[in-house]
Amino acid sequence: MADGTSWRTTGRPDAPARLGHAQAGRATLWALCGCGEKAVLDPAPWLGQGLSRHPLTALEERLRCGCGARQARLEIRGLAEAPQGPAGAIFIFR
Ligand SMILES: [Zn+2]
Repeated sequence: MADGTSWRTTGRPDAPARLGHAQAGRATLWALCGCGEKAVLDPAPWLGQGLSRHPLTALEERLRCGCGARQARLEIRGLAEAPQGPAGAIFIFR
């Protein structure tokens, strides 16, 4: 990533995170927008399309944010990091 961050739960920094990883045990799929918005997503719509082996980066343009952005960054994080408040304004568009 251009900002120097790295995937945190794949265990292999050289391997692209794939949507299927969000199904693993205590993992959650996060979307982060440049406006500061963030949300935990349910990957079920994408998994239903057979996209479990798609890299997360290939799915980022399928997101929409309440600010009008047509993409957001995707990350897989541990369940313990799930937010306590309501979900954010980012959603799966297609
Ligand atoms: Zn936004």
